[in-house]
Amino acid sequence: MNRTAIAVMGAAAWAATALPASPCNAPSGPLAVVTTTTDLKSLVEAVGGDRVRATSIACGYEDPHFVQAKPSYMMTAREADLWVRIGMELEIGWEELLLDGSRNPRIRISTPGHLDASEGVLRLEAPSVRVTRELGDIHPLGNPHYWLDPLNGRIVAKAIADRLAQLRAPDADTFRKNLAAFTAALDTRMFGPELVRTAGGDSLWAMAVKGNLGDFLNQHNLTGKLGGWAGRMRPWRGTRIVTYHRSWSYLANRFGLTVAAELEPKPGVPPSPAHLATVVERMKADGIKVVLMEPFYSRKSADFVAAKTGATVLVCPNSVGGEKEAADYLALIDLIVDRLDQALRGQAPAQGKG
Ligand SMILES: [Zn+2]
Repeated sequence: MNRTAIAVMGAAAWAATALPASPCNAPSGPLAVVTTTTDLKSLVEAVGGDRVRATSIACGYEDPHFVQAKPSYMMTAREADLWVRIGMELEIGWEELLLDGSRNPRIRISTPGHLDASEGVLRLEAPSVRVTRELGDIHPLGNPHYWLDPLNGRIVAKAIADRLAQLRAPDADTFRKNLAAFTAALDTRMFGPELVRTAGGDSLWAMAVKGNLGDFLNQHNLTGKLGGWAGRMRPWRGTRIVTYHRSWSYLANRFGLTVAAELEPKPGVPPSPAHLATVVERMKADGIKVVLMEPFYSRKSADFVAAKTGATVLVCPNSVGGEKEAADYLALIDLIVDRLDQALRGQAPAQGKG
């Protein structure tokens, strides 16, 4: 045997052991995705299926503004192929520490491994004045609590599917199919199956955004067919509520509710007696019946204004995993719509323990 033959055999033996079984030699394990919140994790799992392994930094029952940048989170981020954040400065207090601490160049900002989920969403409350400390914890890019508008859930799911396909081209078809299934499920939950069959999810959303969905339903005698979350919340259009933090604006906007006041005098500033007195006056004047708040805030102030006005305090998670029942993104919106509808009817909603 000459030297060339030996070298060829050696190379073949090396290739046989080093190459994975996959014919195109592509990496075949699931993509490691780290998300800042559980809502994003749920959307990643919906479109990624078994082709991703997702981990969330924040839990669903903690305040996402204030997450401790623990070394264990940096270790998790070190292994990530993709990092997904809410953005709009929600994670401003802790994200950079984790990204720096991870020493993972694949997930740096402006790389394909870093997805800012806020990029394509419908934004509310972008301030038109220069933001100063006086205004409280105002986010200059707008209100970052956008995930409670199901339209934004739909938009973010698409952005995630596109990015996963970019990072893992051989699985692009799977991501596209999963996205289609998720979008169909979300549209059906939003408008009810009959309207989605009649008009299609895309055009229903387009009309909802333009504000002419009501006209369309009237013209075509379809008003009675509006089901899902939109149908359930329809009787409450124009209803005023009070919330603890400015974190329910997107939900209120989508379903036509008005947040008349917050218990926090400014976002991130704890309620003061003087401010609560003005909230009580407002609630009495407007006949406001519901104070909506997340489980991670103290309910002392809410109980105080409720006692003065006869309103109901509705404690409801606003993230996946905030309660057991809110197991995924669609279940979270189900839970919120159900509880809010019951509370507005004056029934005591069944509340979990957080
Ligand atoms: Zn906030």
